[in-house]
Amino acid sequence: MTLPTDPAENLAALIRCASVTPAEGGALTALETMLKPLGFLVDRPVFSEDGTPDIENLYARRSGNGPHLMFAGHTDVVPVGDEAAWTHPPFGAEIANGEMYGRGAVDMKGGIACFIAAVARHVENNGGPKGSVSLLITGDEEGPAINGTVKLLEWAASRGEKWDASIVGEPTNPHALGDMIKIGRRGSMSGAITVNGRQGHVAYPQLADNPVRGLMSLVDALLHPVFDKGTRDFQPTNLEVTSIDVGNPATNVIAAKATATFNIRFNDTWTAETVQAEIHNRLDQAARRKKYRQGKKTPVDYDLVWRDRPSHVFLTRDDRLIETLRGSIKSAVGKEPTLSTSGGTSDARFIKDYCPVVEFGLIGKTMHMVDERVAIADLETLTQIYQRFIEDWFGQG
Ligand SMILES: [Zn+2]
Repeated sequence: MTLPTDPAENLAALIRCASVTPAEGGALTALETMLKPLGFLVDRPVFSEDGTPDIENLYARRSGNGPHLMFAGHTDVVPVGDEAAWTHPPFGAEIANGEMYGRGAVDMKGGIACFIAAVARHVENNGGPKGSVSLLITGDEEGPAINGTVKLLEWAASRGEKWDASIVGEPTNPHALGDMIKIGRRGSMSGAITVNGRQGHVAYPQLADNPVRGLMSLVDALLHPVFDKGTRDFQPTNLEVTSIDVGNPATNVIAAKATATFNIRFNDTWTAETVQAEIHNRLDQAARRKKYRQGKKTPVDYDLVWRDRPSHVFLTRDDRLIETLRGSIKSAVGKEPTLSTSGGTSDARFIKDYCPVVEFGLIGKTMHMVDERVAIADLETLTQIYQRFIEDWFGQG
């Protein structure tokens, strides 16, 4: 039997499955076909929740006597956009000038294809790692992410699964393979402020209470002063006001309500709770300021609603995991990767509650774009990095 040792072949099989969230599209079946000959036990739990589509996920484990490494990722992809604009069809896996084209090539079917090839080579050459390897693959990362990694982790943990370390195969490198390992992420929270004023005629402001004046004070307090100057491992906390809405088409009317929404990305100076407390405090103080509301006796009447659940900030401090991966990268590409906490959130924020987690995959340049593609040479190099990592990480276990 031929084992799935060629990452380009693995990736082509995955790209040919049109697994745009929430569709499974055959991608998990393709994975199962690759994993079974390697000795993995494969489960494909489906999770549901009212108001969201059912999602099929995959958990595969190859058991051994030793530590347990989990590779995490997703087979769902974002929509193709303008299909006519693609140089090669988005689900065709065509190769041109040494690059394979297709939606998911780097985000992140490519990462999965390489990891499987790395395990397959290890099985072929050394009979497989002496510990356990599992793949935790969701079909709901690019969508609402409700029936995906969170539930899959809970499902696996409730069956007694425990992991010692995890690699998420998202595309972490900005320009070249080996640029960057992600070892943490900033936290993220969004909120909406509504200021309740009193409608009236612009010529008689004393009879009205213009909510725009109040909102200006509040927004000013969100933007100034800065929250912090950054920490050793993180860039400065940043708040962006994402929208300001009054919806008032008349120029002679003072509106009754004004709203603003914002998102804050915060570093390890803060927790979700202390950020919330700080923002409440800033708004309460600003509500009493008279700068834009001379003559008003009452403070700004406002409501603040936090949207969704916060994403918590985290930093992985597992030296063995980080140093082993750093060494594998150095031996494959000859350079030192930057350890970074930049960028948006990823499923690593859920995995960190179960075991130390780092992220390392392909080059992110073309992700979510028309003509998403990956160099065949990069697939081979990433496979070698993962293979070396597996050898070294289990070797030390
Ligand atoms: Zn992704």
